[in-house]
Amino acid sequence: MSGPDVIVVGGGVNGCSIAYQLAKAGKSVHLFEQRGICSGASGRNGGMTGEGARMHENEASALFAMTSANYALLKELPDELGVDFQLRQSGTVEIAQTNAQWDHMVERYEIERAAGAGPELLDAKETRKLMPAVSEDIYGSKFTRNSGHLWPFALVDGFANAAARLGAVIRTHTPVSRILEKSGRVEGVELLDGGKVHADEVVLATNSYTPLLLRQLPEGAIVPARGQILATEPVAPILPLAWGNNFDKEYGRQVPGGPIICGGFRRLDEQEGLGLYEERVTLPVISGIGKRLAGLFPALAGVRVVRCWAGIMGFTPDGLPLIGRTAIMQGLTIVAGFNGGGFSWGAINGNVVAGMLTGVDAGFDLTYFRPDRFVEKGTDWNNPYTAGEKNSRAA
Ligand SMILES: Cc1cc2nc3c(=O)[nH]c(=O)nc-3n(C[C@H](O)[C@H](O)[C@H](O)COP(=O)(O)OP(=O)(O)OC[C@H]3O[C@@H](n4cnc5c(N)ncnc54)[C@H](O)[C@@H]3O)c2cc1C
Repeated sequence: MSGPDVIVVGGGVNGCSIAYQLAKAGKSVHLFEQRGICSGASGRNGGMTGEGARMHENEASALFAMTSANYALLKELPDELGVDFQLRQSGTVEIAQTNAQWDHMVERYEIERAAGAGPELLDAKETRKLMPAVSEDIYGSKFTRNSGHLWPFALVDGFANAAARLGAVIRTHTPVSRILEKSGRVEGVELLDGGKVHADEVVLATNSYTPLLLRQLPEGAIVPARGQILATEPVAPILPLAWGNNFDKEYGRQVPGGPIICGGFRRLDEQEGLGLYEERVTLPVISGIGKRLAGLFPALAGVRVVRCWAGIMGFTPDGLPLIGRTAIMQGLTIVAGFNGGGFSWGAINGNVVAGMLTGVDAGFDLTYFRPDRFVEKGTDWNNPYTAGEKNSRAA
């Protein structure tokens, strides 16, 4: 069959890092993106990143291994890609304002410590030393040193350009309409314009859109979830660290240049944002975010909001991504379902998938991320950790 060695579908952080690492490993690659590079969740997120294990007790070590390796790789990539994607190794504080939030944080702290991560618990006074602008009305925080924030577009664009320099063909505004299959084996893809491109290996890095292309996925294995963010006018430096709050459902950071971006309050969206592909902001969510920002950092009351936007995440019932080959079709690899945290995975996934497709074991335990686990165990969304979030309905 003539055509590239590998077709990658999706030009977000995962697709572009995979294309780059495959090209670096000597594979010929075609990447197809239906819109522009970084136009999906990768271009609409908060840009926070770092090591962690969330609330996944059993899976904690596997999560920590991936997210800490991702963070270490991010530190090397500016030189390797020749791009300054404004990585700020600021650390992150998750701030508790209620007893329940504090208890949750302690639980998570213990899970993360057991997995090898190094978060610290800080009381209110210690938190204010790191974040002097924070409200008087807090219990304390969990500080993660090995974390920070970055400019997502510059990183993803940097991966795409570096892949192209190594010979990868990057085709934007080229939707893939179908995966070609023969006798249970991948044969390539069909494009919306009817063109066919053949390859023995296809990687779906299509995150929330994966179920639209791969109907064989069990229903509910990946569900679109709309998230919304606002950005303020630039202000003088006031938030030295990235932050999370309220079971990590609200989050934000001050970007270089001064604007503050803040997201969350998905629970105030229609259907809590679940099942929605429309990239549209809604007033209840944006005003909820604004109030929380001014409540947590009172000096920000009165600062103007100048922009807001929405993006679509791919949520999974157990809050864990799907990474690896699938029995649905030989030659098909899925890298999708990153819930609210794909920038703590996207860079290292390039190495993992390039390794998988070239016979090099990247050394991670991927058992918990097997794409076919939902075929085996079903898609139960009635768990207390929906998409990795505990107490998803808390105020
Ligand atoms: C509001 C919001 C805030 C977030 N905040 C953070 C954060 O602070 N930190 C963090 O780590 N993560 C955050 N995330 C999550 C993070 O953005 C995602 O996990 C990550 O970007 C997923 O990357 P991806 O490459 O897998 O998917 P995407 O970036 O969604 O890329 C998938 C691409 O596939 C393309 N595609 C789909 N179907 C086809 C097709 N048929 N043919 C061709 N192309 C196709 C899409 O157009 C898209 O560009 C946030 C997400 C949102 C929406």
